[in-house]
Amino acid sequence: MLIIETSKCCEVLDITPQAKAAIFASKTVSGICVVSTRHTTTGILVNESEGGLIDDIQSIMSSIVPDDGYSHDLIDNNAHAHLKAMLIGSSSTLPIMNGELMLGTWQSVLFVEFDGPKTRTVDVSIVPDK
Ligand code: ZN
Repeated sequence: MLIIETSKCCEVLDITPQAKAAIFASKTVSGICVVSTRHTTTGILVNESEGGLIDDIQSIMSSIVPDDGYSHDLIDNNAHAHLKAMLIGSSSTLPIMNGELMLGTWQSVLFVEFDGPKTRTVDVSIVPDK
């Protein structure tokens, strides 16, 4: 389990090192790794951890989902964050081979915050083949 302190309303954090550390600690040689967030206003994404692209991800999410005008805003005024998180998805499943997380050269595991700053919990579940 990872505890992540976000520092902004909307933020993308590269959690690849933490996922790799969990695999290393488990001594799993072959299997799958599921990275999942426990929160309804955050997401897990596999993509490139590059500053310009991260800005682009935040920009396109804001253009797809405007900030207000939703029924849920009557509850806690964060419907836009739930809707953005819904589009990103709450988990990613990746293979483990030869003790390594199988990511492409430009792929990273990214935690996406849409309603920070908050303390967040992410699970890294490792399922060995045998
Ligand atoms: Zn809400």
